[in-house]
Amino acid sequence: MWPWDQVLRITPSDEEQINLLRVLAEHAAVQVDFWRHPTSPGQPADLWVPFPGLQAVKVFLESNNISYIIMIEDVQELLDEEKKTMTKSRRINRSTSTFDYASYHTIDEIYDWMDMLVDDHPDLVSKLQIGQSYENRPLYVLKFSTGGSNRPAIWLDTGIHSREWITQATGIWTANKIAKDYGQDPSITAILDSMDIFFEIITNPDGFAFTQSSNRLWRKTRSITASSNCIGVDPNRNWDAGFGGSGSSSNPCSETYHGPYAHSEREVKSIVDFILSHGNVKSVISIHSYSQMLLFPYGYTTAPAPDHQELNELAKKAVSDLAAVYGTKYTYGSIADTIYMAAGTTVDWAYDNGVKYSFTFELRDTGRYGFLLPSSQIIPTATETWTALLDIMVHVLEHPY
Ligand SMILES: [Zn+2]
Repeated sequence: MWPWDQVLRITPSDEEQINLLRVLAEHAAVQVDFWRHPTSPGQPADLWVPFPGLQAVKVFLESNNISYIIMIEDVQELLDEEKKTMTKSRRINRSTSTFDYASYHTIDEIYDWMDMLVDDHPDLVSKLQIGQSYENRPLYVLKFSTGGSNRPAIWLDTGIHSREWITQATGIWTANKIAKDYGQDPSITAILDSMDIFFEIITNPDGFAFTQSSNRLWRKTRSITASSNCIGVDPNRNWDAGFGGSGSSSNPCSETYHGPYAHSEREVKSIVDFILSHGNVKSVISIHSYSQMLLFPYGYTTAPAPDHQELNELAKKAVSDLAAVYGTKYTYGSIADTIYMAAGTTVDWAYDNGVKYSFTFELRDTGRYGFLLPSSQIIPTATETWTALLDIMVHVLEHPY
């Protein structure tokens, strides 16, 4: 990665400027990347620009009268800071009670932590493998269950976009919270007394390993496309739900490349097979960052989902309870209404396959740090998100279908 990359916050004033930004993203001489895409006039977009392209991009914006500010002055400085805090946490990972939840961890540290969690809660937590990634890493799922056979279930996943590190970190904290609070907190106890929870924390392990070895800002899978030099598929555009439609790209070099066909990615297909063969999954909650949003179907169409009203009410309550913790403000609504059309997403697929309570979170922040959220915000983020997750899970428990 080049030093002195910057993230620009660009606020287009009309549709014409939005179109110019799309042209810029497709045709810039250097690879630029919308961390947050332009949506509508007046709504900010965040654009990562590598150092060699900075001047040309700024000239382009200025000559087209598109207003922008520099959101992240020096991306490298944040990366260096993050690396420093990661190495510091290495020494104290002996048990789930002394594990450093306030730091980001390597993939191996997280695998070890999973085993510790199972060891510490053998009657509640087990580890399943639902498949293998493209590079043959195991796809592990933590199962929280107090018994029964094929009970109604809640599915949670974090990190399907590998660079969204706050999500895997929140996943670790949350899984520990579930295990620790069972038998203590009445809500999670009631949930687990009649339902199971499945939690995939490292949903895109190849991408995640790549963010740690090579490119911290890698989003996609690591599969090879025969016809292209570009690698990877956007695993949140790869699902068989309006596959190939608006908000996904057929260009293998795009960050939103939908892949050669629906469920082409093993990381996606493994979840599809798991949820379908389980047959009793009542809620799918897929956790992303950033933007502070709670979203539900649809993304591939602007038509309201049949359960729009109920999902909307539930989202409203969840974000209001989340905000009550630290004042963090979330917007909510359908994907298409709230951000933009996005075809082939996890929650649309789940919803169209009978999972009524399908939600996507976009965790902190709104762009000050974007994907490089400082580790000091992990526990606050996880803590506030937990209240919203509990609202959804309690609602699922109380509304059997
Ligand atoms: Zn994402």
